Amino acid sequence: MQEEKHGFQAEVSRLLDIVAHSLYSDKTVFLRELISNASDACDRLRYLSLTQPELTASDPNFRVTLSADRAARTLTIADNGIGMNHDDLVENLGTIARSGTSAFVGQMTGDAAKDLALIGQFGVGFYSAFMVAERVEVTSRKAGEDQGWRWISEGKGEFTVAPAEVESRGTRITLHLREGEDEFLDSNQLRRVVTKYSDHIALPILLIENGKEHTINAASALWTRPKSEITEAQYAEFYRHTAHSFDSPWLTLHARVEGKIEYTSLLFVPSAKPLDLFHPDRKHCVRLYVRRVFITESCEEVLPAYLRFLRGIIDSEDLPLNISREMLQHNPILAKIRAGVTKRVLNELQKKADSDPEDYTTFWNNFGAVLKEGLYEDSDQRDPILKLARFRSTAGEGLVSLADYVGRMKPGQDAIYYITGDSTEAVARSPQLEGFAARGVEVLLLTDPVDEFWVPAVGLFEGKAFKSVTRGGADLDRIEAPAGETKKSEPPAAGIDNLIALFRLTLKDAVKDVRLSQRLTDSPVCLVADEGDMDIHLERLLKQHRQIEAGAKRVLEINPAHPLVASLAKRIGDNGHGDEVAEAAWLLLDQARIVEGETLPDPAAFSRRLSDVLRRSMAA
Ligand code: ADP
Ligand code: MG
Repeated sequence: MQEEKHGFQAEVSRLLDIVAHSLYSDKTVFLRELISNASDACDRLRYLSLTQPELTASDPNFRVTLSADRAARTLTIADNGIGMNHDDLVENLGTIARSGTSAFVGQMTGDAAKDLALIGQFGVGFYSAFMVAERVEVTSRKAGEDQGWRWISEGKGEFTVAPAEVESRGTRITLHLREGEDEFLDSNQLRRVVTKYSDHIALPILLIENGKEHTINAASALWTRPKSEITEAQYAEFYRHTAHSFDSPWLTLHARVEGKIEYTSLLFVPSAKPLDLFHPDRKHCVRLYVRRVFITESCEEVLPAYLRFLRGIIDSEDLPLNISREMLQHNPILAKIRAGVTKRVLNELQKKADSDPEDYTTFWNNFGAVLKEGLYEDSDQRDPILKLARFRSTAGEGLVSLADYVGRMKPGQDAIYYITGDSTEAVARSPQLEGFAARGVEVLLLTDPVDEFWVPAVGLFEGKAFKSVTRGGADLDRIEAPAGETKKSEPPAAGIDNLIALFRLTLKDAVKDVRLSQRLTDSPVCLVADEGDMDIHLERLLKQHRQIEAGAKRVLEINPAHPLVASLAKRIGDNGHGDEVAEAAWLLLDQARIVEGETLPDPAAFSRRLSDVLRRSMAA
């Protein structure tokens, strides 16, 4: 087979362009990326060798070596990990395979400063080699295979792959340094960079100097060292390595559990929100180890899905080393670890919420929507998660807890009122809130899709029921109006019963019913879901996702105190105005639909009626 030419995937080319031109402030990070990959490659082979020991029999000691050649101006990073064959090289070093990274590329704007900030958060992995190298050569042989391969690229749209003689398994990455990058030929500089970024790597990193090898890192798994000997910077580097991320952890939890079952967990809550948090294929990225041996990275059994924002490792002393990924399901030891870790994480979050509410807001804004999934997925942890939950509300800008809300409930109020919708701004303008605002009753503004699911599952908080302000009747009369305002809802204007009857007749099947409203003060009408029917926003959500075809019919509520409604009621008595009132009924229904953000079933009819009304008012 001869040399093949390949084009990079378009996204990779864009990435490389940025990498080469608008460089990171700190170029040394390329070394941590390449060492991180080498370490991952060794971890993967170590796992395979549990069931296929022949793969590593000839060379069981995993390591990474660095060597610089001053004359050739090259730096080489080599590992004896799993290696890559032809297809691996084309796939892994020609495309962006990870869902997170491709989501990130999708967000790139072409504005160098903004894109750089994004890269700073997410990293570019292998491609960072082109920050310092004008040419990169990768030679590799996959464990268990005989044929070696050489990948070469100048990072400008193309790379080549050709067969090569490769003596032993693993990968060698040779960087032909750009002009001005000679610092990476200097042993002392390499030492400094490795100490800074890669000291936590559990395998030896060897520097070859004048033919001699020196181990230049601590070469012990970071989580096995005593907490007191680990610096914050080391924790942060370890986080970046396991999370494939560039930010700093918002919270670091390092704990050793001893007793019937023993394990160490070193977990991190990121400070930035990964772009693929809601990606359906996304597995959480806590790595499972058994007695320091890496087992798997994507293991739903290790942690519940609602903690999928966590990064880090769990290292068990009790699981069998030869555990297969299939055996992890329904494993009782793992179930205990999972329960223990979940409890600890929720506890620590509660401590943060108590001790630094403002900082906790950062966490909640990033990951609250994910954590809330636990409210219906894990009934055991429902109470702790309800305590951790924060909400926007009509009470003001900040976030409130349910305890805050209940503490502020009005005399006579026996429910926790909420409204669901797509955005805080949109729901805050809903007419259904008017009556609540007039009485000073706080309403929670729920705008995460998950809110539609946990609220019905939870039902109560401290004995108080959750109640949607867009569904069922609003018995606001029982709640005391603020002092000074003795505004009980006024007796309906004369003729209002007739008006309702005429509206019902006119609108017939377009609505479920027409009723007087207690929840409106300023608007003439609004739509609500009948008690027992699906709430309006949920129904729209399900329609969008094609989960349901047609929705339930709505109740049109009308505000007897509104001048328009009052004059319509009055007109009904006068002869000859029946048609006008009927037109008004349709217009008001369409108006309520528009306010709800719904599309009109017959926009042409709406526009004809509106023009008629306008024409008449001009003629008057
Ligand atoms: P990430 O490490 O986040 O997956 P990278 O861009 O750093 O992304 O690496 C891309 C992929 O290339 C890796 O997932 C891995 O499959 C492969 N790879 C990179 N370096 C090596 C290596 N030294 N040995 C084996 N595979 C590697
Ligand atoms: Mg990597």
